[in-house]
Amino acid sequence: MFETSVLEISKGALQKNLSFLKKIIKKDTIFSSVIKGNAYGHGIEKFVPIAEECGINHFSVFSADEAYRVKKMSNNGPRIMIMGMIDYHELKWAIENEIEFYVFEKSRLEAAINFAKAVNKKARIHIEVETGMNRTGFNQAQLKEIFPLLKYNSENLVLEGLCTHYAGAESIANFLRIKNQIKIFNKMHKILLKEGLVPKLRHTACSAAAITYPQTQMDLVRVGILQYGYWPSRETLINYLSEQENKVDPLERIIKWKSQVMSTKNVNMGEFIGYGTTYLAQREMKIATVPIGYSHGFSRSLSNTGRVLVNGHRVGVIGMVNMNLMTIDITDCPDVNIGDEVVMIGEQGGQTISVSSFSELSDQLNYELLTRLPQHIPRVTVA
Ligand SMILES: *Cc1c(COP(=O)(O)O)cnc(C)c1O
Repeated sequence: MFETSVLEISKGALQKNLSFLKKIIKKDTIFSSVIKGNAYGHGIEKFVPIAEECGINHFSVFSADEAYRVKKMSNNGPRIMIMGMIDYHELKWAIENEIEFYVFEKSRLEAAINFAKAVNKKARIHIEVETGMNRTGFNQAQLKEIFPLLKYNSENLVLEGLCTHYAGAESIANFLRIKNQIKIFNKMHKILLKEGLVPKLRHTACSAAAITYPQTQMDLVRVGILQYGYWPSRETLINYLSEQENKVDPLERIIKWKSQVMSTKNVNMGEFIGYGTTYLAQREMKIATVPIGYSHGFSRSLSNTGRVLVNGHRVGVIGMVNMNLMTIDITDCPDVNIGDEVVMIGEQGGQTISVSSFSELSDQLNYELLTRLPQHIPRVTVA
């Protein structure tokens, strides 16, 4: 396939991040690799096999279509857990294939029981409880309503887990809200136990919670962003480093996004560059065009502010980012030629462009920028 850019996925970097996480996470806690959003843009098809090679055997996804893709790509029969959407028609497939899933609606529970009976398999469910995020999950009264269903259908159900999600563990501003969520979760767990319902695993922690509130790790952690080498927020990083002697970021970005120079040109002083009048050449300039634009996930808001690497230099994006291309300033590195590598994310010649620096510029979170990297850009695995 031909494309104007490539995303390299580094297995070595993943390995490094996972060994760091191993030190952070309690020994008996299961590590679930969160790969929703096309593995945060890295590509499910490329990410799953290398994650398995690195020892991962549990994946969390948002929806049934993602679970299907994981199942197709995996070699070691990992556990797969759907945290969000499953259509009524997909439930049967999930149960037949021993895919685990969240239950946060009575109707989903009833449907799961019926399908489980029909296919003569047990539905492997995780009960999600409402603890204060107000997104999905049973509150206390609703939980009581499903007790009979849980108790009298035990031959068709496995209560794999009890879970919740925190409303912003990456920001200290939410400290009290998180603390309260932990308290409510523990209370819900006790209520369940009192009914004789014993979930096999309790799980609540995402990356930020696992690192900032270790008591949330419980029996399983659902880690996304950290494994890819990014911090959930600058605050989480600073909070972590403040307690370390070595003030070096222990993570390494897995992804490198690169393209090449398509064309170069000289521009006279006093000329505007690109659409409109957003950039005026203040001197004799040399520019290069790169075949990457907003249709490839390079945000228009990086117009006149973004940075890329070329020939080991950090250079500016000038003028507007177009649909398929951008223009960069190579006046001070005139040795640039057609076909030279241009790095939008990653390392080149000792310089690095990280998504975080670029996402601060474009006002997007790491999460959003990564997951917007289009599915059609080829991903290749590197050591
Ligand atoms: C996305 C998600 C996670 C992982 O979040 P990170 O911040 O990337 O670690 C965990 N749990 C749920 C329910 C999620 O939706």
